[in-house]
Amino acid sequence: MCVKVIEVYAKRLYTPTKIPGIRYTVNQYVGCEHACLYCYSKFVCRWKRYGEWGTWVEAKVNAPQLAKKYVKGRVSMSTVSDPYQPVEKKLRLTQRVLEAMDKRIELSVLTKSDLVARDIELFKKFERIEVGLTVNGFVDQVKKVFESNSPSHSQRIAALKALVDERVRTYAFISPAIPELVDVESLLMELRGLVEMVYVEVLNLRLSGSKFRAALRQLAPKSYDILTKHHQSYVKELIDGLKRSSIPHAKVVVHHPRFAVLDVC
Ligand code: SF4
Repeated sequence: MCVKVIEVYAKRLYTPTKIPGIRYTVNQYVGCEHACLYCYSKFVCRWKRYGEWGTWVEAKVNAPQLAKKYVKGRVSMSTVSDPYQPVEKKLRLTQRVLEAMDKRIELSVLTKSDLVARDIELFKKFERIEVGLTVNGFVDQVKKVFESNSPSHSQRIAALKALVDERVRTYAFISPAIPELVDVESLLMELRGLVEMVYVEVLNLRLSGSKFRAALRQLAPKSYDILTKHHQSYVKELIDGLKRSSIPHAKVVVHHPRFAVLDVC
């Protein structure tokens, strides 16, 4: 896929946020070539009129200069893009931001890409860092429709292994958790020994958008039914499964009836 790259100069890189547990977000890119159909960040298309979500990426070319500033509190990279989307291979913007960052910054990185393993030596320089991989185990038609442009499940697991081998602190973000489509229990077994922390995020149907909702209803009507009619029992099932697993720390993120992060263990 050929993505349109728009180079911009930003005024700042560390954006204060009200996301629980996070003080600042860092988005050296806005927009994402992974083009997940359910992506909650596609709302930015309302004011970034470059075209459909997934076809463009805004690159803040002065991000490495802006990254030098020291900030206190947890910093999340990234929230409206994937820092290791394909364009990063060529632009190396994320890599240059990490190089420039004050290594005392408390950093949390999240990606769906095994390209993250390229920067292991840089991660090791940070005093407090955690690197997360989003996993969901999508395959075949579901992967093709929901996440056609993102790396495979096995590539993500391989990236976690590479990080763990080098003693980088890791976590997994099981997202979006969808009944019948995402086998959370099997994922937890696979993640045993690879991560210290697991977040399970239940799909936010509202933010996933009408295109995704239509695709879900068509591909997996039962999943749609459970999410809309039996949401509470699905969340309870997830919590019970997490308690049975040997994952040391786990939280469940829900968006319905309101946003909450539930401590499980
Ligand atoms: S990888 Fe993340 S930011 Fe990128 S399209 Fe998918 S959900 Fe959105």
